[in-house]
Amino acid sequence: MLDKKILLTITAFMALATMSMVQAQTDAEKKAVQSAREKEAAKTEIWEPVPAKVTPGKLVGEAPSDAIVLMNGKDLNAWQKENGGAPTWKIDKDGATTVVKGTGNLESKQAFGSIQLHIEWREPTAIAGSSQSRGNSGIFFMGRYELQVLDSYENPTYVNGQAGSMYKQHIPLVNASRKPGEWQVYDVVFTAPQFYADGNLQTPAYITVLHNGVLVQNHVAIKGGTEWIGQPKYTAHKEKETLVLQDHGKDGGNPISYRNIWIRELQ
Ligand code: MG
Repeated sequence: MLDKKILLTITAFMALATMSMVQAQTDAEKKAVQSAREKEAAKTEIWEPVPAKVTPGKLVGEAPSDAIVLMNGKDLNAWQKENGGAPTWKIDKDGATTVVKGTGNLESKQAFGSIQLHIEWREPTAIAGSSQSRGNSGIFFMGRYELQVLDSYENPTYVNGQAGSMYKQHIPLVNASRKPGEWQVYDVVFTAPQFYADGNLQTPAYITVLHNGVLVQNHVAIKGGTEWIGQPKYTAHKEKETLVLQDHGKDGGNPISYRNIWIRELQ
């Protein structure tokens, strides 16, 4: 009887020992498999070049450390009247720069190629005019590709000419306009077009636009220089050109204002 008990105990002990060995083997195998997977994963890891450090603004919309600030609310040193001369637009007490209608466009002194642009604009509280004459301005990338600025808050007009449109080329995906008198924001990624040496188009310009944080243009191909009449077409130009803000002239509307404009040059 005793022998049988001992035998059973020994058998049970051996069974447990065997199970433990199987478990140990399984753990070792798991480790080996994981190690092999990590080696495979490392083959697709890239460690250099390390992206440059950029200190972002304290608040979203503030210029990051590598931005070129074009409009700071204090002076218009980065600007000229289009094609030369002192700027004719005025800085208000609140730091906004307001169009003086009929005096001409505002042009950056510096030329740019592909850029990230942050720009804030405000439609006048006193509504005057309608459709395209209500708070019309525009941002001309490279002096020729217009992202429309317009009071499009309850102001019907042709949709490829409303705020957020690439004028007469691309209708905005939605109308994200704020009321007149409220500051609005465009955040833009603009890719400059490229031309062959003979002047033919190699790749068109592309633009992505967020209007007040809402996507309105999603990497659309620009069809050529903006035209009021007729179809757009490309004409070869320099790799870098100036940024131009539109004075829509004495159209019956009230003047619009800009502030906090900064640019990051892209490769
Ligand atoms: Mg315009």
